[in-house]
Amino acid sequence: MEETQNSRMTLPFNVSDQQIIDQADTSVTAIVEEPLSQTLIEEPQVEFTVFEEGSKRGKPLLVASDGYRYYAKKRGKNSVLWFCSSRSVTCKCYASVVQKGSDFVRGNNSHQHGPEPSLKDRVSVSVKVRKEAREQPFKSTIEIEISPS
Ligand SMILES: [Zn+2]
Repeated sequence: MEETQNSRMTLPFNVSDQQIIDQADTSVTAIVEEPLSQTLIEEPQVEFTVFEEGSKRGKPLLVASDGYRYYAKKRGKNSVLWFCSSRSVTCKCYASVVQKGSDFVRGNNSHQHGPEPSLKDRVSVSVKVRKEAREQPFKSTIEIEISPS
C-alpha cells in the first residue's frame, strides 16, 4: 500500500475580491442632540391641609405634605398668611404660605431646616387625641372668614 502523502491540497485560490465596502459614510453617527430642555422643573405638588386645632394650643395649623407646618400669622378678608411654625429664636425660618381661598402659594423664603417626616399623620393623631381627651364634640373655636371670591 502506498500512501501517497500527496495531501497537498490545492486550495483553490478563491480569493474573491472581498471588497471591503467602505462603510464610512453610510452611517453617519448622528450626534443625538439633546433637545433643549424647555420643560420647567416643576415642583412636586404640595398639598396643604388646615387643621383648625392642629397646634398644641388648639390653634389652627397648616400642614404641608412636604413636611412643614405653619401657623396663622395674619388673617385677611380673603386670605391667611401662614408662617413656618419653626420660626423661633434659634431657627430663623421665614418661610411662609399665603392662602387665598383654597389656594396656597408659598412665599419666596425657603425653609432653614429639614422637613418633619410623616408630619400630617402625626398632627392628625395629636388632634384626634386632644379631641378625645376633651371628650366633647368638635367645636370650631375659630371662625374662618375665608370666602373664595
Ligand atoms: Zn421653616
